[in-house]
Amino acid sequence: MNILFATSEAVPFCKTGGLGDVGGALPLALSKIGLRPTVVLPAFRQALESGQPLERTGERFEVQIGPKRVAGEFLRSRLPGSDVPVYLVEQHGYFNRDGLYGDAGGEYRDNAERFVFFSRAVLEAIERFDLQTDVLHCHDWQAGLLPAYVKTLYRNRPVMERLATLFTIHNLGYQGSFWHWDMELTGLGWQHFNWRQLEFYGQLNFMKSALVFADAISTVSPRYAHEIQTPPMSCGLEGVLQHRREDLFGILNGIDEDVWNPAIDPHIAQKYSADNYAAGKAACKRALQAEVGLPQRDDVPLLASVGRLADQKGFDLIAEVLPRMAQSLDAQWVLLGSGDPHYEQLLQRLAAEMPERVAVRIGFSNELAHRIEAGADMYLMPSRYEPCGLNQMYSLKYGAVPIVRETGGLADTIVNTTESTLAAGNANGFSFADASAYALSMAIDRAVRVYRQPDVWRQLVTTGMEQDWSWDRSAGQYAELYKRAMDCVG
Ligand code: ADP
Repeated sequence: MNILFATSEAVPFCKTGGLGDVGGALPLALSKIGLRPTVVLPAFRQALESGQPLERTGERFEVQIGPKRVAGEFLRSRLPGSDVPVYLVEQHGYFNRDGLYGDAGGEYRDNAERFVFFSRAVLEAIERFDLQTDVLHCHDWQAGLLPAYVKTLYRNRPVMERLATLFTIHNLGYQGSFWHWDMELTGLGWQHFNWRQLEFYGQLNFMKSALVFADAISTVSPRYAHEIQTPPMSCGLEGVLQHRREDLFGILNGIDEDVWNPAIDPHIAQKYSADNYAAGKAACKRALQAEVGLPQRDDVPLLASVGRLADQKGFDLIAEVLPRMAQSLDAQWVLLGSGDPHYEQLLQRLAAEMPERVAVRIGFSNELAHRIEAGADMYLMPSRYEPCGLNQMYSLKYGAVPIVRETGGLADTIVNTTESTLAAGNANGFSFADASAYALSMAIDRAVRVYRQPDVWRQLVTTGMEQDWSWDRSAGQYAELYKRAMDCVG
């Protein structure tokens, strides 16, 4: 089975969040079970500067974008350590910029145009490199127009006739919604701008288009697949999602254990695994404290979080509990993130007020993210919604016990610690239901109380570390789904 990944992110080329981790790791897992994946990415500046070897293919192409012809070229590479081909769509005007989707000035205003171009370039790649694609696996709104192209404008091209499409929702909160005149850029024709297809509240909506036209739809956890069929998690798209519910599946993301694994992690102070974690984690905790300028103490719980500073992630709840808890609780807090300037300033202010207890780093640092997982005792994820979430699985693997809100993939991966789950041996973290600072602080209190009982804490840490969160669990489910999508096109 030949699978073409149309994605805007794939590590180690380019990443802003979980999509990048999935785009880099899932193709590798698929190739291990005998499928033949290929990845197509925009040649963002981040990818050009990633240090990965990029080769010119000499294949130039032009696509029609509204009234103009826009030229691009394909670069070629591979996912490291594999023979999975990666084609990068080079178009400097669109992609050789500071950010992937925006910069300090906000979202790029031509995002519709940029990703129309990317989508049409993906279809060019199929023809020019004779990729013999069985399933076009499209990820998030950036690749959302592809199923519509396959079913309409490109329908009569021989290679498209039997091409099945699977669309994966990584986050329904980002839909690629643009003013209606951008329809002109798509070349799809105004007849598709109606409430059953591409139109959504008067706008052109890339995500909705995919939900309408894809042969099969998946999202990144079973719980989220269920949640998005009703408001508010449906973000207005409940109509189409309920209509497609027979074709909508939830497959939990995995983690790349060659990258996120404390037994081999080159970024951390001391490697460790489940059977000898105590010394390793203690060394990593001391190193992290030194790195972020906190007192080097073994005897206090260190709570951490890494992520996009967005409303979704519940950093406002962390910011709300911090002033009180940092006063009343002998604990340390390490937070790494970037995003909404409001949160950046808020967290920095808290760190300045309580330098002995709170350390905040604003920015994006993959290496520090690894060291935080290794050095933390507890990991906070009070997300308002969470399609899957990777950091809680990284935390389990690194022995940083997750404290999460019970939603989406967090609910599918974290088993709250109670007497009965401890007795059953499956407790691996702490969860709470209400998206409130009160509920979060109660969960932190519970966690800190258990932290003071070393035997119980050891059980939690080792349960999480020994669980299998690798892609091997989910790759087979994708293979099944690809077959199902192929059945749809006969
Ligand atoms: P989302 O995709 O919604 O951002 P996930 O938990 O699925 O959330 O994945 C986030 C990924 O991005 C993780 O690998 C996380 O470590 C990484 N990440 C997010 N923000 C940062 C940051 N500021 N520095 C380093 N890594 C980050």
